Amino acid sequence: MKPRVLSGIQPSGNLHIGNHLGALRNWVKMQYDHECIFCIVDLHAITVYQKPEELRAKVLEIAGLFLAAGIDPKHSAIVAQSMVHGHAELAWMLTCVTPLGWLQRMTQFKSKSEAQETIGDGLLQYPTLMAADILIYQANSVPVGDDQAQHLELTRDIAQRFNSLYGETFVMPATTLPAVGARIMGLDDPEKKMSKSAEGAAHAIALLDEPSVIRKKIMRATTDSNPAVDFESMGPGVANLLAIYQAFSDFTNDQMRGHFAGMRYGDLKKQVAEMVVAHLEPLQQRYKQITADPGYLASVLKDGAERVTPLANATVNLAKQRMGLYTP
Ligand code: ATP
Ligand code: MG
Repeated sequence: MKPRVLSGIQPSGNLHIGNHLGALRNWVKMQYDHECIFCIVDLHAITVYQKPEELRAKVLEIAGLFLAAGIDPKHSAIVAQSMVHGHAELAWMLTCVTPLGWLQRMTQFKSKSEAQETIGDGLLQYPTLMAADILIYQANSVPVGDDQAQHLELTRDIAQRFNSLYGETFVMPATTLPAVGARIMGLDDPEKKMSKSAEGAAHAIALLDEPSVIRKKIMRATTDSNPAVDFESMGPGVANLLAIYQAFSDFTNDQMRGHFAGMRYGDLKKQVAEMVVAHLEPLQQRYKQITADPGYLASVLKDGAERVTPLANATVNLAKQRMGLYTP
């Protein structure tokens, strides 16, 4: 049996190169020697307000981008989270074994709640729902960006606590991080990770940005007061541009030094922009072809949900039995 992989992306805005380098393109690389389930986690997206019609459209857009990036729906299940009812059901059971203090410590909860006028309970419960997404499929490995590592640790803590209270139930999932590109930073503020939900026109490069927009955003990226690349002393903005280049090019550290040491920032930015455009243009063309047939993506999501629902139901039933919930 192939090891099982689960990962997800929220339909909470425009997918960006951080999502691509931290998650999506690693999914593509793993998909043939693992049994993969990739979720569009709409129940997570509503932890902050989403306009209903935009959310519905985003789910299909993201399904299209998964395919355009190279996910093969014949091998991997592509699933809209809310179509599989067990995610929310198991999340409640896990909520009941999760101490409040564990959730309040999460850095994502702290940073996302800062931006809200009233903090929805869903923002706090986010990691128990994420634990349910993973544990419901008894996933062995979860390929994510660095920002989700803390939630993965919490997932293992929750699984362990459930297993010790109620008996062995859940497989312990491992965190799989990429060597390069695990945390792409905002182009406008390289102290903050690039995020779909962040404000700012020049913050992120969206996967569907026109080449001219990509070039403009990169040329405007924040650097530092040095004139040229110095590997011994560089600010986070320059380090981020180099990380983007390295992740797309697969250059080694030595190749990066050889190529960029002493290069003026204007030239560095041009090279990064061309590298990004060269990778996103073909993806955008595939996206156009895939979305030309409006019914196709809905059928991919229907098929994905049908394939994984029996797996999810089996785990929900097992957890119910373990907890003593009534299962006739
Ligand atoms: P949001 O602002 O709505 O939380 P996001 O950009 O953080 O959006 P998510 O849907 O939360 O995106 O995360 C999807 C996947 O992309 C996760 O695996 C996450 O770790 C990864 N990821 C998100 N941002 C980055 C980033 N800046 N660099 C690398 N990986 C990232
Ligand atoms: Mg996020």
